[in-house]
Amino acid sequence: MKGFTSQIVHSDRLDDIEHGSLHKPVHATVAYGYEDARDLAAVFQGRLSGYTYGRQVNPTVEALQRKVSTMESGLATVCFSTGMAAIGTMLFALLRSGDHFVSSSFLFGNTNSLFTSFEAHGIEVDFVDATDVKNVARAVRENTRLVFVETIANPRTQVSALEEIGELCERRGLVYVVDNTMTSPYLFQPVSVGASLVVNSLTKYIGGHGNALGGAVTETGCYDWGQFDNIYETYRGADPRMWAVTQIKKKGLRDFGAALAPEAAHHIAVGAETLALRLERQCANTAALVALLDGHEKVRQVYYPGLAEHPECERAERLFRYPGAVFSFELAEGVDLWTFMDHLDVIIKSSNLGDNRTLAIPVAHTIYYEMGAERRASMGIADSLIRISVGIEDDGDLIADMEQALDAS
Ligand SMILES: *Cc1c(COP(=O)(O)O)cnc(C)c1O
Repeated sequence: MKGFTSQIVHSDRLDDIEHGSLHKPVHATVAYGYEDARDLAAVFQGRLSGYTYGRQVNPTVEALQRKVSTMESGLATVCFSTGMAAIGTMLFALLRSGDHFVSSSFLFGNTNSLFTSFEAHGIEVDFVDATDVKNVARAVRENTRLVFVETIANPRTQVSALEEIGELCERRGLVYVVDNTMTSPYLFQPVSVGASLVVNSLTKYIGGHGNALGGAVTETGCYDWGQFDNIYETYRGADPRMWAVTQIKKKGLRDFGAALAPEAAHHIAVGAETLALRLERQCANTAALVALLDGHEKVRQVYYPGLAEHPECERAERLFRYPGAVFSFELAEGVDLWTFMDHLDVIIKSSNLGDNRTLAIPVAHTIYYEMGAERRASMGIADSLIRISVGIEDDGDLIADMEQALDAS
């Protein structure tokens, strides 16, 4: 089986599965018993494959990990309780005091907040405009270990110089981490631009239904971990491609404990089956809404990588199957933000993205409020900026809702 959806839908039953069950069952257990105590010891010592304790591994979670690896064409995946847990735990497990990393300045708000906390713990970070590789190259120093970017940044939809940064990281021996949440592996596989590790918030498009939190880090096999000093001796096994995942599993997941619950893993695995179907519809709906708003008299500007005037339009077209299902726009001068928002009826006023339902949020007043006006201005976030995460509703209903809310404003 080669097709994206065929592989996801059939992935569970390709492994041994209880009673011929077509879904991997929810294994609601914390611990695992062994007949032979020597086997218990062998599992703990890594000489025998098996399960130790629910914080480290669970069969339902493991099935989802395989599914995410398949979707990303990766070697191995570690799942976490949330996307933030995946990012924080991964970086904690890989970086040490005195290290430096370069990050895109166009970031998910909580990732931005997390990275500023690293500074207080002796790990330095430089935020740069990653739409141009020259800015990333200029920030690289002797102690730089890693570069972190998102594919399409929310809310302003900047697209990182993904290919050029991949080449830079390879030349300089840097770990290249790509947060693929906004594109998901259906629209883009970061392994194609040389990413070392891929992050996905499973909460968003992969789970897709807004009913479960989860996160994942996938090893692509692109990076030679032999050149990375921060791997502990114990985790330097036979295959160097697996060193970082092993360290993330042990020093990160096991010791921090942000494990994904088996029930959540099941929700996400079921959601993942329709990732391609949902995104086809969501991207088509996005194009219809963007066409309505672009040039509308009550709209100052629309930000979407599918628009010809978007600075990275050509890059998005080259790299992504579609330019995503999130866009943002600023209302024209004199159009009241709150009046417009409150007239939306089908479109829900809510945070989150990647849900089946279309969601709208005034970002400066909510998810980007805490960072303050100065940092917001540097990220190009105007007070009237509204982010729309487009769902799977019928396009006519979305267009009609948007039109009547604009008319009323
Ligand atoms: C939502 C999101 C995260 C964090 O994921 P959670 O599952 O909410 O913790 C990280 N990165 C991006 C780009 C996101 O959109």
